[in-house]
Amino acid sequence: MSYREAPPLCLMIVGDGMADTPLAALGGKTPLQSVRYPHMARLAGQSGVRMASTTPEGFPAGTETAMPLLIGYGTEVLTGRGPVEAAGMGVVLPAGQFAMRVNLVRMDAHDALTEACPELSDAEGLAAGNKLAADGEIQDILGKVGWTLHPQPDFRQLVTGPGESVPDGMTPPHQVLGAALSQYLPAHDTVAAFMRRGRGVLRGDGLGAWPWGAGLVPRYEPFAAKYGRRGAVISAVPVVRGMARLAGMDAPEVPGATGTLHTNWRGKADAVLAAALAGYGFVMLHVEAPDDCSHALDLQGKQQAIALLDEAIGWLRQGLAGHPYRMVLLPDHVTSTDTGRHGAQPVPWCVFDSRSPEGCPTRYAERGDVPVEPYTAPLRVLLGLQD
Ligand SMILES: [Zn+2]
Repeated sequence: MSYREAPPLCLMIVGDGMADTPLAALGGKTPLQSVRYPHMARLAGQSGVRMASTTPEGFPAGTETAMPLLIGYGTEVLTGRGPVEAAGMGVVLPAGQFAMRVNLVRMDAHDALTEACPELSDAEGLAAGNKLAADGEIQDILGKVGWTLHPQPDFRQLVTGPGESVPDGMTPPHQVLGAALSQYLPAHDTVAAFMRRGRGVLRGDGLGAWPWGAGLVPRYEPFAAKYGRRGAVISAVPVVRGMARLAGMDAPEVPGATGTLHTNWRGKADAVLAAALAGYGFVMLHVEAPDDCSHALDLQGKQQAIALLDEAIGWLRQGLAGHPYRMVLLPDHVTSTDTGRHGAQPVPWCVFDSRSPEGCPTRYAERGDVPVEPYTAPLRVLLGLQD
């Protein structure tokens, strides 16, 4: 069966952090290896399960690394997470600026990090961001170097500044849960002073401010010019929507899409169908829930998230009946539900073409007995650029 000549509609379904490591709780199997999800099995039944490496050496395993590569860009656009998130938040940065993500993190009475990505309401997030921005000492710390804090209705906050002074030496908070603030103050004076004072300002709320992921705004060649297709990305997560916008794609917001298990699954599937029927030639559905559950070491939640994604794939197939399409399914990276950490191991992927006969359903899961392909393979196969 040849996969050349892609149909007008190509879909990429991304279960964030869906791949896992062998878990003791599952007898040494991963969540995907322990359950056969029916709709995923039908996709995998046609192509078989292939493996791809989505984290090049020297880059951190995570969505901010894998996703730009999976939509067809090279490592030159990987300048850090902040600029991509700024675009996702709708903050337009002039050329030559840097942007840096700041997590509102939960901390205990001893200033130890207990939650890296707390579920804050819009109002709670914005109130904390505004408190930081209104504090005279913080204004002083940031003002001296020309940096600006942009309060956001979320645990994700943003700081931007001139590109001559991109700060470094920061540790992503989800990698150091349990650590004390003082252990991870970077050598960079401004960042360290901001973290110390930010904790002081937010102590009464049980929160702190944890910057990371600073980088210069990257330049993307528009996806439509590069691949001849208009692109749309359906995701609740700013880093994914921002990457889509930097690549010139549309990233409509879906009401009730939260990036957690309690997201609006039906609404997201409907948004994918709406984009598909509106003539976009490349449509991505990205769901954050599997990654989110792994970070929380919530195995049952992760299994439920995968089952819900499987159900959504069923809705998509139903909604697209009669339209020729090709669909790729994959995680962007591994997230271990044992450690709550991202991993750079290869991920399983498969491709389904509605114009080809279905094969026998096959479990869609990590496997070690097939060659590992480069990160370019899933998109190139999807778009008919290679087999
Ligand atoms: Zn993650």
